[in-house]
Amino acid sequence: MAKLTMREATKLKNTRHVLGISGGKDSAALAIYIRDTYPEIHEKIEYFFTDTGAELEEVYDFLDKLEAYLGKKIERLTQERGFEHFLTMHNDYLPSPRQRWCTLMMKIKPFEAFVKDDPVVTYVGIRADENREGYVSQKPTIQAVFPFIEDGLVRDDIFQMLEDTVGIPDYYEWRSRSGCYFCFFQRQDEWLGLKRRHPELFEKAVKIEKESGQGYTWVQDRTLEQVIERAEEREKEDKVKCLKNKQASVRWQDKIRYDEDDDDPEDQACVICSL
Ligand code: SF4
Repeated sequence: MAKLTMREATKLKNTRHVLGISGGKDSAALAIYIRDTYPEIHEKIEYFFTDTGAELEEVYDFLDKLEAYLGKKIERLTQERGFEHFLTMHNDYLPSPRQRWCTLMMKIKPFEAFVKDDPVVTYVGIRADENREGYVSQKPTIQAVFPFIEDGLVRDDIFQMLEDTVGIPDYYEWRSRSGCYFCFFQRQDEWLGLKRRHPELFEKAVKIEKESGQGYTWVQDRTLEQVIERAEEREKEDKVKCLKNKQASVRWQDKIRYDEDDDDPEDQACVICSL
């Protein structure tokens, strides 16, 4: 995928400009940044959100807020067939970091169907302080622009921009990234967060795991029940440590601002899901 500068992108004729909103902080901040800094590009951009059908309701609330701020529609790319259909197609093997068919089927293919073979410039929210590539399309018709890298914006700028406009998505209080409720990139404490905040979704994830092929689990070598058990134990230990250290209570918005777990370089290819 060819890379362009903002200046080069602005000059292109007969080209679509698209920006995929994942529900995460960086793509939302990028849309806000473009609206406020490059109004001529904002005019042309088609904002879109690829709905896997397994999103958290907090994501939809956040999209509504963002849409209101942008003053433009965020196109929702919905799919006729959901995760269960693709799971059957993959012989009931759960997706995993190594077999990430979910991203291909539920994110990349709908995106490619949306842009068709049109000449397209896609705006990507990778920041200047990150070292990851993001989703690289093989389509020769797609070119990419990285405005945050070009303009030197870093993590703190992104949080500030969100705090000053639409706020940080609520799910960041218990989860470090957007994406499907059952995403296997979740940490143990995030699974626990899912169980507490969305018990029905957690139960659905347990059911899918139990019915999956050859005893596959969402988390390597551990069932979700075991994951929760471990997470609860760790939570107790952390509380004791916290009491011992008499840590002052910190706003969750500030805590996550300096917790860079969502920048895990291991899940580079998931950038399309959670950036
Ligand atoms: S969010 Fe996670 S589970 Fe959903 S498509 Fe992306 S990698 Fe797969």
